[in-house]
Amino acid sequence: MLQVHSIETLGTNDGPGIRMVVFMQGCNFRCLYCHNPDTRPTKGGKEMSSEDILELLEKQRPYFKNTGGLTISGGEALLQRKALIDLFTKAKKAGFNTTLDSNGSILDEDAKKLLEVTDLVLLDVKHIDPVWHMTVTKASNETTLQFAKYLEEKGIPMWLRYVLVPGYTNQKEFLEKWGAHFQNYKNIKRVEILPFHTFGFYKYKELGIENPLEDCPVPTKEEVQEAVDIFKKYFKSVYVR
Ligand code: SF4
Repeated sequence: MLQVHSIETLGTNDGPGIRMVVFMQGCNFRCLYCHNPDTRPTKGGKEMSSEDILELLEKQRPYFKNTGGLTISGGEALLQRKALIDLFTKAKKAGFNTTLDSNGSILDEDAKKLLEVTDLVLLDVKHIDPVWHMTVTKASNETTLQFAKYLEEKGIPMWLRYVLVPGYTNQKEFLEKWGAHFQNYKNIKRVEILPFHTFGFYKYKELGIENPLEDCPVPTKEEVQEAVDIFKKYFKSVYVR
């Protein structure tokens, strides 16, 4: 059984084409800028089987056309990798594109099995510097970088994602390092910059938890452009979302 936080239909932000996006309950990171803090606790959510999700997917099949399909997001989807192997295997068999949106923090045998039935990974590499990564997410980036390398070795397509937060992730030297680290990866189909935003702030209030970035400004147009310009030195396709 899968613990599902929520489901978005006709999503256009998390992978190619039109998609059904399933947000899983539970996350092992504690990103300062998290806009879904309600997905983080491992308890809660709604129990759903692969069949429940496939039934919903089937209803949306006409919208997917050639590019759309199923995206599993979070929280952190890898926490439920065992159950997701079953879902992705069945979804692929039924002809749906399978996309995994992940922080890449787990790379065990089950995670590798899941990747065998994954068409595309949206990989968040939240900081290239280990110390800053720890500050921003309260977790190490070591496995995430190994995860990216593994995807490259296996030729599994990925979109790299980067949340741009003034004062935390927009240091020029580290944006350059991030780009240089990945520039020769052949499996990167695009790079997406996600400017930090405040849309999820109300959730912190609702949950009664402290919002560590309450006073953090959103990036200016110039700051976003600066990041785009740096990444464009290393990658052909750079998008701002
Ligand atoms: S990985 Fe995603 S869900 Fe988890 S804390 Fe970070 S932003 Fe929130």
